[in-house]
Amino acid sequence: MKCLVTVKRVIDPYVKVRVKSDGSGVETANVKMAMNPFCEIAVEQAVRMKEAGTVTEIVAVSIGAAQCQETLRTAMAMGADRGILVETNEEVQPLAVAKLLKAVVAKESPQLVIMGKQAIDDDSNQSGQMLAALLDWPQAAFTSKIEIADGSARVVREIDGGLEKLTLKLPALVTADLRLNEPRYVTLPNIMKAKKKPLEVMKPDVLGVDIAPRLKTLKVEEPPKRGAGVKVGDVKELVAKLKGEAKVI
Ligand code: AMP
Repeated sequence: MKCLVTVKRVIDPYVKVRVKSDGSGVETANVKMAMNPFCEIAVEQAVRMKEAGTVTEIVAVSIGAAQCQETLRTAMAMGADRGILVETNEEVQPLAVAKLLKAVVAKESPQLVIMGKQAIDDDSNQSGQMLAALLDWPQAAFTSKIEIADGSARVVREIDGGLEKLTLKLPALVTADLRLNEPRYVTLPNIMKAKKKPLEVMKPDVLGVDIAPRLKTLKVEEPPKRGAGVKVGDVKELVAKLKGEAKVI
């Protein structure tokens, strides 16, 4: 079974994000970038399924600037067999991501697509759901367990009220939640091996997709600074403040 995983290059989650002085977005120049953490979980899941013998080939796909090749190499160092970069320097919003991935799915015909549940830069949490809708495939977002058996994926989803179990007929799309697994560290020998794995680069127009943004960012601002806290003398004073000042009880 062929599995397609998507990997987005984002600002490293341990870097403090700075807003550009003109308010047009966040600063990405000279900032450390990394694979989106939920995409790491998606890759790890595909690799574990390959190690278990359910998956035969893993294709990692990234959309973005040429530097996304590094992200794809990381995915290949983790265990993906090859990479596809849809290269563009334009902003690619979730609907365009979904349309591009739909075209890649048409070329590759995977039985399973695993994506991150959300990208930690735009926090959209939309691309997976949109892709499944465009493909008209069964989907399960926020999965914390995936098992393949009898042409189906049995998944556990993390939902507000607890856990939901679903059986999806393949081909299907799932998005990875935090508890699905703990991604492995890449080792130096695997980084070296990954350099030799195939990486195909294509432009969005080859896939026949218009990626023009549908949403316009008007302004990006820092969140308001938090004021200093106060120490209360006892529980009585705390309750009085919560009632009188904060008005939360
Ligand atoms: P989002 O809808 O932006 O929160 O992204 C959800 C998931 O879609 C991410 O975790 C990725 O797996 C995938 N994705 C979104 N944008 C891209 C991109 N530019 N390249 C590759 N995968 C992406």
